[in-house]
Amino acid sequence: MTCIIPAMELHLYNTLTRRIEAFEPLTEGKVGMYHCGPTVYQRPHIGNYRAFLFADLLRRALELQGLEVLQVMNLTDVGHLTDDADDGEDKMEVQARKDKIDPWKLVERVSAQFFSDLEALGIKPAHHYPRATEHIPEMVEMVEALLGKGHAYRVGDNIYFDVHSFPAYGRLSGNRIDELEAGARLEVNDEKKHPADFALWKSDPHHIMKWNTAFGPNGFPGWHIECSAMSQKYLGPHFDIHTGGEDNVFPHHECEIAQSVCANDKPFVNLWMHTRFLQVDGGKMSKSLGNVYLLDDLEEKGFSPLDFRFLVLRSHYRGQLNFTWEALAGAAEARRNLRDFRGRLGAQAGGTPPGESARVVQADQAFRRALSDDLNTSAALAAVFELRNYTLREGLDASAAASALAFLEETVDSVLGIFDPEDARDDALSDARVEALIRERTEARASKDWARADEIRDELQAKGIVLEDRPDGLHWHRN
Ligand SMILES: [Zn+2]
Repeated sequence: MTCIIPAMELHLYNTLTRRIEAFEPLTEGKVGMYHCGPTVYQRPHIGNYRAFLFADLLRRALELQGLEVLQVMNLTDVGHLTDDADDGEDKMEVQARKDKIDPWKLVERVSAQFFSDLEALGIKPAHHYPRATEHIPEMVEMVEALLGKGHAYRVGDNIYFDVHSFPAYGRLSGNRIDELEAGARLEVNDEKKHPADFALWKSDPHHIMKWNTAFGPNGFPGWHIECSAMSQKYLGPHFDIHTGGEDNVFPHHECEIAQSVCANDKPFVNLWMHTRFLQVDGGKMSKSLGNVYLLDDLEEKGFSPLDFRFLVLRSHYRGQLNFTWEALAGAAEARRNLRDFRGRLGAQAGGTPPGESARVVQADQAFRRALSDDLNTSAALAAVFELRNYTLREGLDASAAASALAFLEETVDSVLGIFDPEDARDDALSDARVEALIRERTEARASKDWARADEIRDELQAKGIVLEDRPDGLHWHRN
């Protein structure tokens, strides 16, 4: 029989309200979701991937609920300045100069690395990956709307958002305009009416990536307007979920809210979610400490990108996660244990259809309950390991093993994505699986089921397992 477990409502933490809320999509059955993607001047490091892995987890958890998700992640390829606000140089152009490459070529190079990393990490492709440089008309239109409504003003060819025109400015981050203006966090820029105002559009004849628009000949967008314009294009002015790293809360997302709400006179995003930074060796990653790791660095040490994925998923997205090589090795081992568990279940099930198992139902419910509690993946995984430990200790009959296998492959892995499709081969080769097959072959021979015995022998042979009959019994080794 098939056990239908009712979907549990997702409860998610909203940075805006500072509460965990029951998630309710704007349109029944559908979710529109936007993630701040990478600034493609350097290949993202493992810390950046914590946020992108979270976006993937969220999508998969929503899909497990039966929701149809429309997922958008932008690529910032212009306008992100070195100080994250209105001063400094464009990160793209600084890096392009260092690498002695055209910034447009740099965009292509880093984007390709990014997409290949996403694939290696088992991240499902978003439905759209809009690039800022390909959405200039949409940004210009939005800036024009803000100018028309008196939320923005021009100084020469630069255009600024007037934060005093939007009373809710600061609600997301908890900043207050007067405190921002008194603080030293903001550079004093004589052009601005208020120090907390931010650039929507900049002009610089020396900028390489620039556009001739109604605002002048040498313009380029501010970083924040990019996400407001692109999210609106693909998801409409009001959509369900927006995510980013904790560093995006201010100023980036605060400014996005101001722009979008004021341009459209509509609410913007219902649910704001942010991941915490990944720590490395107990602190912030830094070039000087030599611990800004890329996926390649992990692979060089023999780890799969999926081991890193597993490490990230083992901890809660809002909790502290400290990357160390020991922690990664621990994650790799735990992932291996789950793969072996899967192989063992396959062997135990031996093609029997799934049957009702109170143990599996219990694990499934605990798994879903943990996810619905603000995506508590560490508790969700604990439910899976509890089932594994029980199985190792007590064993499962064939139909219960089949139902545990279905739970592992269809529910757990659809959300966590920790089994590489390539691993199916490895799992078939796991020691436990080989031994189970050998036992099955011995039984088949004993009951004169020659066809099954031959089938198993062929399967083992195809996987490079050599069987040897010795006086002390049957032995096997890998070819
Ligand atoms: Zn953004």
